[in-house]
Amino acid sequence: ANRAFHPENSQIQVGTELIGGERLAIMAGPCSVENEDQIVNLAKRMKAAGANFIRGGAFKPRTSPYSFQGLELEGLRLLELAKRETGMPIVSELMSSDYLDEFVKRVDMIQIGARNMQNFDLLKAVGKTQTPILLKRGLSATYKEWLMSAEYIMSEGNQNVVLCERGIRTFETETRNTLDIQAVPVMKKKTHLPIIIDASHAGGQAYLVPAGAKAGVAAGADGLMIETHEDPANAWSDGEQCLTPDEFDKLMDQIRILAQVE
Ligand code: PEP
Ligand code: MN
Repeated sequence: ANRAFHPENSQIQVGTELIGGERLAIMAGPCSVENEDQIVNLAKRMKAAGANFIRGGAFKPRTSPYSFQGLELEGLRLLELAKRETGMPIVSELMSSDYLDEFVKRVDMIQIGARNMQNFDLLKAVGKTQTPILLKRGLSATYKEWLMSAEYIMSEGNQNVVLCERGIRTFETETRNTLDIQAVPVMKKKTHLPIIIDASHAGGQAYLVPAGAKAGVAAGADGLMIETHEDPANAWSDGEQCLTPDEFDKLMDQIRILAQVE
């Protein structure tokens, strides 16, 4: 992952989309896939607003074992329907290598969540595939630890890694996490891998998402992950931080202006 050995920026092909090229990767969708109407209608709406990836959790790393754990394989099936309707590649989180073969067959980009950033067996397992990996930063991971996790994947042969800053745990309790914008220039200096910003999990509240997302683009990020929901108050997970489609529209108008200025 070290830029010293690879001076040019990497560009990662994910289905029809290229991450790290001219166009921002905009990964939008619900925290959890809930049902067919939800994911298919939302995917269409997100595409119309400017998204080029559909994100949706089928296997969810919930803090409590009593919270909704995801639709699992049924969730992947519904994501495939959304992809068929919109053409957008799927990004979804894999938590266990038990489902690796299913993900390789059915998902365009495998997300390794913050809580699994140092699950080294899982990293090695996805490293043996060629499926693009979205590697989220661990809740309390240093840049070096994060890059070493990328090395675990790449040293097994999979060079298709994209980093995702999603906020880190600090002493502050007002926000869910603290978005580390400096991750963008630091990672651009240290590595050739693309980096995107997830302002949703960083802030934990919808009103914080536009500022974080715009700051990410201004800092030079290669894309954004943004949780959205038609009815955030009734979302099965992370509703507080989901943008409504109208809020997403408005943010995308601003992002487009920023991306042109850059
Ligand atoms: C998610 O993307 O829904 C998620 C659980 O993210 P993180 O691993 O960053 O908490
Ligand atoms: Mn979430």
